[in-house]
Amino acid sequence: MTHSTNELADRLRDSAQYVKGVGPARFELLQRLGLESVGDLLFFFPRSYEDLSDCRPIRELQAEKLQTVIGEVVELEGRTTHSGKGLLSVVVSDKSGVVLEGVWFNQAFMARRFRYGQRVAFSGKPQWYRDHWQMNKPQVTFLDAATDVENQPKIQPVYPLTEGLHAEQMRRIQRHVVQTFAEDAADRLPPGLLKKHRLPSLPEALRHIHLPEALAEATRARRRLVYEEFLILQVALSLRRRDVRTRHKAPRLPITQPIDAHIRRLYPFDLTRDQNRAIAALCKDMAGERPMQRLLQADVGAGKTAVAVYALLLAVAHKHQAAIMAPTEVLARQHWRTLNQYLTKSRVRRQLLTGGLTEKERRIALAELRMGNVDLVVGTQALIQKDVEFAKLGLVVIDEQHRFGVQQRQQFRKLGVAPHYLVMTATPIPRTVALTVFGDLDVSVIRGLPPGREPVVTRWVEEAKRPKLEEHLRQEIAGGRQLYVVCPLVGESAEDLSSSPPDDGGAGGVAASPAAARRKAAAADLKAAEQTYEQLRKGAFTDFTVGLLHGRMDEKAKDEVMTRFRTGEVQVLVSTSVIEVGVDVPNATLMVIEHADRFGLSQLHQLRGRVSRGPVAGECYIVARDVNEETQRRLRLFVRTRDGFALAEEDVRIRGIGEFFGTRQHGQNELRVANLVSDADLLQLAREDAFALVTADPALREPAHAGLRSAVLERYGQTLDLVEIG
Ligand code: ADP
Ligand code: MG
Repeated sequence: MTHSTNELADRLRDSAQYVKGVGPARFELLQRLGLESVGDLLFFFPRSYEDLSDCRPIRELQAEKLQTVIGEVVELEGRTTHSGKGLLSVVVSDKSGVVLEGVWFNQAFMARRFRYGQRVAFSGKPQWYRDHWQMNKPQVTFLDAATDVENQPKIQPVYPLTEGLHAEQMRRIQRHVVQTFAEDAADRLPPGLLKKHRLPSLPEALRHIHLPEALAEATRARRRLVYEEFLILQVALSLRRRDVRTRHKAPRLPITQPIDAHIRRLYPFDLTRDQNRAIAALCKDMAGERPMQRLLQADVGAGKTAVAVYALLLAVAHKHQAAIMAPTEVLARQHWRTLNQYLTKSRVRRQLLTGGLTEKERRIALAELRMGNVDLVVGTQALIQKDVEFAKLGLVVIDEQHRFGVQQRQQFRKLGVAPHYLVMTATPIPRTVALTVFGDLDVSVIRGLPPGREPVVTRWVEEAKRPKLEEHLRQEIAGGRQLYVVCPLVGESAEDLSSSPPDDGGAGGVAASPAAARRKAAAADLKAAEQTYEQLRKGAFTDFTVGLLHGRMDEKAKDEVMTRFRTGEVQVLVSTSVIEVGVDVPNATLMVIEHADRFGLSQLHQLRGRVSRGPVAGECYIVARDVNEETQRRLRLFVRTRDGFALAEEDVRIRGIGEFFGTRQHGQNELRVANLVSDADLLQLAREDAFALVTADPALREPAHAGLRSAVLERYGQTLDLVEIG
């Protein structure tokens, strides 16, 4: 699937090593940035720009404003400060007769680049220091006598760098690449759409994003590139959606009055309006022969599982098998218990299938599934292993979908069936993200909490007040309540907790060293959690039973401590974020979150949801030391806001979509330029265009769509299994 046989485009596949100004040593540095080919460089965009158009005599400088001066090096000095730092000082003077000092700390290599009498331009934000102007780490342009200062680019691109690669070198390489290769980049957007939205051609956009003459040019170029990314993604999602709906047939599982009445009898409560609405939507889906592809979103504790149970039983009522898959053993067991509670009086034959089964138990379970002797199966990823066969699978419910990914959904189809799908997520997802990561799904949302639920009281407790907090907690625990103490653990997420890590199979592998660093940090965190456990056990909560739960414990140990917590024997559970998703112990209504600054807002909200289970108002105390202003703002927002959707929106804005999900997802790696929050308008536009385009030309056969087609296949063919057009 070459995206073009065009010779010019092939030049973009050449190694970056042979680009002018690169060579073997710098090539290694570029590789660290993930840049291998000429094309990679061409599509490696500035992360920001410096506007150097404000060039003035030194005498006229103003403090704290980005300005440029041009002058001659008159003093050059390297020394060690009394704090032991290496200091380089370069003084320049210009015709205005005043001097400016550029200073660099611990950057010895800079010294070699200067000599007396040299003409240079310094750009930066000057400060008045004692008796002269100073710029800390100014950006330097070396000018020889012949340099036409007027023709220096006024807008300088700022590229992400890596140690050993200087801004100036990177700029020079990129300038050359753009000037030589931008024309070669084949435009893949259909000309009609370019014209409709008045977007620049690809070569023009590339030139303008790298070498803009004015910031407005860069902005316009960026819009085009963002639109293109979104369009390619949305075409892929639209194709996938179409593909699943037209190519595969699922069993019709219509709801009837008797079935409905039968299922509703199982609930010890009335379903809420939002729950009923979600049920109505999924009944409509399941009655048809197109496989349901529905995402059920809810704020924590809003009652998703109750809705899932309805769907599961509807499938079973039609003599089909139904499966529910959770990301961790702990959660799978919890679903298992919940289902058993709902089904105490029912004859539905059910089976738990997790990695925790013995070889023999597993073999028997698989045989029962295959023969159709099991109606309802609850499991982890163990459910989608190759040896699992269903007799008549009608519905799959996937809990915490964002922890899996699209591939897992596909696995079931590879098993030779096209069941209905209900995927659930307890992390409220901002609309823009829903349109991207889950863009091929229909969405139901449960917003309100079930009646009689008291909102959680959240407080940020200063370190100095900890003894007082602990005193309060002891009283409450003595009164019969239970407490979670949550400690952060780097990298702990569903993947670490289950046996086989989900992999998106896409491009963009993560370098080994960050992973190793994460492992190291995780080990340190784990130790910290264990220390907290020891401290609390021997200190503040010595009169109570304290338990420890973390992701690295084996399944049996985890299950045991959870059981003891559930029965109330363990009164204080020190835990890492394992409990983030779904764990449900109604009597545990107290929570302390240590190092709250290290969690994302959505994660904090998830955690807090654990203590909002019963009729007693939960209490959530967050502890964070030495936090910067941004973090303070974030934590204050958390204390103030109960709306999970608002918190999620903020989370994506601050941390980006990758961090938000904690795992890699399609629609994340592939978005290099686009920002899901600030580019929301373009996302909507691209989505509408994409869906219209795919409706008109479902196989992308029109010549005008050829470029788009190859772009879609190249980026998403694998991850989204786009068979139809492949
Ligand atoms: P989620 O999966 O969204 O976190 P669950 O379905 O586990 O939520 O429900 C959370 C708790 O609320 C459970 O204890 C459940 O029994 C209870 N619950 C769910 N729906 C209702 C309802 N309509 N009325 C009262 N309680 C409910
Ligand atoms: Mg749940």
